[in-house]
Amino acid sequence: MSFPSTRTILTSFDGGVVLQASVQKPDKYRFFDSLGDVALIPRGAGLSYPAASFGSESTSVDLSNFNRLLSYQDGLLHVEAGATLGQVYNFLIKHGRYLPIQPGHPDITIGGCVAADVHGKNQLRDGTFIELVEALELFHPKHGVVTLSRTEHADLFYLTCGGYGLTGIIRTVHLRTRELPSPVVEIVTIPVSSVEDLEAVITEKARQYDLVYSWHDFTQRGKGFGKGFIKAARFVPSSEVASSFDQRDRHPKRTLYAEHRGMYRYAFFSQWTTRPFNALFYQSNMIGRSVHKMPLYDFLFPVHNKEIYFKFFGRKGFHECQFIIPFKQVSSWTEEVKVYLSGHSISVTLASAKLFVGEQRLLRFTGQGICMALDVPRSAQGRLFVDFLNDLATRTGAIPNIIKDAELSAPVVAACYPEYEAFRSALRAWDPDRMFRSHLSERIGL
Ligand SMILES: Cc1cc2nc3c(=O)[nH]c(=O)nc-3n(C[C@H](O)[C@H](O)[C@H](O)COP(=O)(O)OP(=O)(O)OC[C@H]3O[C@@H](n4cnc5c(N)ncnc54)[C@H](O)[C@@H]3O)c2cc1C
Repeated sequence: MSFPSTRTILTSFDGGVVLQASVQKPDKYRFFDSLGDVALIPRGAGLSYPAASFGSESTSVDLSNFNRLLSYQDGLLHVEAGATLGQVYNFLIKHGRYLPIQPGHPDITIGGCVAADVHGKNQLRDGTFIELVEALELFHPKHGVVTLSRTEHADLFYLTCGGYGLTGIIRTVHLRTRELPSPVVEIVTIPVSSVEDLEAVITEKARQYDLVYSWHDFTQRGKGFGKGFIKAARFVPSSEVASSFDQRDRHPKRTLYAEHRGMYRYAFFSQWTTRPFNALFYQSNMIGRSVHKMPLYDFLFPVHNKEIYFKFFGRKGFHECQFIIPFKQVSSWTEEVKVYLSGHSISVTLASAKLFVGEQRLLRFTGQGICMALDVPRSAQGRLFVDFLNDLATRTGAIPNIIKDAELSAPVVAACYPEYEAFRSALRAWDPDRMFRSHLSERIGL
């Protein structure tokens, strides 16, 4: 039996790539027996900033119908890869468990988290998503179904976690969950007078708190460049959680689609609006600065139901870049960015940092340093700024995030990731025909 494929227009979440692609959306495991020799790429929620789950020459395999939670025992959850973080959250919270590493939106799928080896809100303490993966089931038309773990086909396991869907289709994942201290967190907001103070404060807070990130205003000039705050949260002991605490399911339906992000024709963000927008955002966070409690869900997924931020970039979209800047280079990196921005009218709508530790391997976004994400509206000036940042990364030894920065070129990735060639050759050894390809994999020369 053959499964129908449709031609449809797909858009990367940042709005930079819009193209017609073939999509198959199977709902039966028989589908996997029907796959022939065509180029493929798995697709989760399609919420990656670059075009990671589609390409003009590939058929995207949309896994959203494979979204069942299959079994749960002794803290191990077995799920189909199309299950979303929101689904998993709602299930686990009823069992007093959670996933300590979750990216910022509940519509993101488990398959997308494994394939991009995503990070959450305390990489220092929890690591990246691979830490939660006990084992997974991978399908490749030439190899069939293979079970991967740290002890079974370990090399392929490490190639697949952070492999951007290029080793095959992850069908199911066995996840290590963690005991949930409580469904409520207590938040503190710590002001940071300039980005120069960030490293010291975030290093201290990331050790003291369960979840930590910062926000900075890069439209400020002079001494106050990067003024902002750190949000730090710790679990409230269960005994202090009021019995009236709202435990309803938090994520009844999907709210974010890459194809709807550009629904407003024009952008709200510009060189005139971004400064007051950031000033207002800063003030509103300073006013609400007193220690307060909130459901864990709302801290983990801060943009859920505030997706308007992304729509404010209009149809043209935006650039998001993220780098792990080695500790020794943070001040020179910051100084160069500050000088660049003082000479150009670029609207940096977001600058947000986290603390990272660990060894960088293959193409996984890991390493040691301050992880800084920046958003700017998509424009010729914005593109030049991104090119400047990527060049700065090669000079400072910073690691750019492949699943965020859609302008990364093959030479930049090769220069910044020491195991780029090792990844390429391991991929070719497993799949000499390179059946799995995407717009992203072609761009970065994989
Ligand atoms: C609002 C928002 C907040 C975010 N916050 C963070 C954050 O805090 N930390 C972070 O690290 N990232 C973050 N991201 C990025 C996001 O976590 C990743 O891009 C993630 O991969 C998206 O998952 P997805 O389900 O949308 O997958 P897609 O975008 O559909 O696919 C992503 C990649 O995974 C592959 N893939 C998907 N499913 C499978 C599968 N079953 N088998 C094999 N490969 C598969 C695809 O081929 C593709 O290469 C954020 C994104 C958004 C939109």
